[in-house]
Amino acid sequence: MDLGLKDRVALVAAASQGLGRAVAEELAAEGASLVLCARNPATLAETAAAIADATGAHVLAVPCDVTDMEQIGRLVQSADERFGRVDILVTNAGGPPAGQFDQLSREQWEQATRLTLFSAIELARQVLPGMKERRWGRILNITSIAVKQPVENLMLSNSLRAGLTGFARTLANEVAAYGVTVNNILPGYTRTERLEDLAQMMADKQGISPVEFRAKWEQEIPMRRLGEPREFAALAAFLVSDRASYITGTSIQVDGGWIRSLL
Ligand code: NAP
Repeated sequence: MDLGLKDRVALVAAASQGLGRAVAEELAAEGASLVLCARNPATLAETAAAIADATGAHVLAVPCDVTDMEQIGRLVQSADERFGRVDILVTNAGGPPAGQFDQLSREQWEQATRLTLFSAIELARQVLPGMKERRWGRILNITSIAVKQPVENLMLSNSLRAGLTGFARTLANEVAAYGVTVNNILPGYTRTERLEDLAQMMADKQGISPVEFRAKWEQEIPMRRLGEPREFAALAAFLVSDRASYITGTSIQVDGGWIRSLL
C-alpha cells in the first residue's frame, strides 16, 4: 500500500528514543521529512543522524522541552524555516510520575498537566493554521491504554490523558471540514527504555528480578508478550497517511489485547 507520505513534513515530539523514535523511523522509511525534538541534545542528534543515514530522509533535530510553551513556539518556527510547513504532527512526551492521589502534590499535578496535556494543545495550536490553509493535515496524539481502562497507581496519566482525549475528539470535529484529521494512538505495554526502567524499579520494590516482573505484565496480555515499538509505529504511519483520510476522532489501542472492553 502506498501511504502517500513521500515528501510530507512530519513533526514528531519526544522522539529521541522509544515510541516517538519508532514512529519517526517508520515515517522516514515512507519518505517523509522529519522534525524531531527531545530535551537532551546529544541523544537527539544521534537519533536524527541514525535515521537520516538509514533512510536518506531530511531530518531536522531541535532540542525542546515540551513543557515550555515558548520552546514549542521556537520548535515550530524552526520547522517552518527549514521545510516551510508541518503536514503531520505527532504529539508525545515522557510519562508523568506514577502515584496515588494522596502521594501527589499540587506542583506535580501542574507539571504533569504541562507535560501531558498543554504540550499537545500548544503544538496543535501552532501547526493548525497552516494545515487549515493548505486544507490537509494530520494530528496524532500518543496517549495510553489508560484512557480506555485506567491503570492502577497512575493517577496523573489516567486523568490527564482522558483530558487530552476530550480535547482531541472536540478538535477533530472543528477541523474535519479543512481536511485535517485528529486521532489518538494508545500504546499498551511496549518494550521501550521507559518500560525497561519501570520494570527494574518495580522489581526492586518487590525484591524480584526484572524478568520475573515482566512475566507478570505478560500474564495480563492475551498475546503473552510485550509489544515492539515498530508494531506501534506501523499503525501510527497509517493514521497519519493519505490513506487514512476518512478516519478522525478515534482512539485506537496497540496492546496485544490488553483492553478487555468491546469498543
Ligand atoms: P521513553 O522511552 O522514556 O522515551 C521518551 C522520549 O520523550 C525520549 O526521547 C525523551 O527524551 C523524550 N521526552 C521526555 N520528556 C520530554 C519533554 N519534557 N520534552 C521533550 N521531550 C521529552 O518513553 P516511551 O516508552 O517511548 O513512552 C512515550 C509516551 O508513551 C510516554 O508518555 C509514556 O507514558 C506513554 N506510554 C508508554 C507505554 C509503553 O509501554 N512504552 C505505554 C503506555 C503509554 P529526553 O529525555 O531527552 O527529553
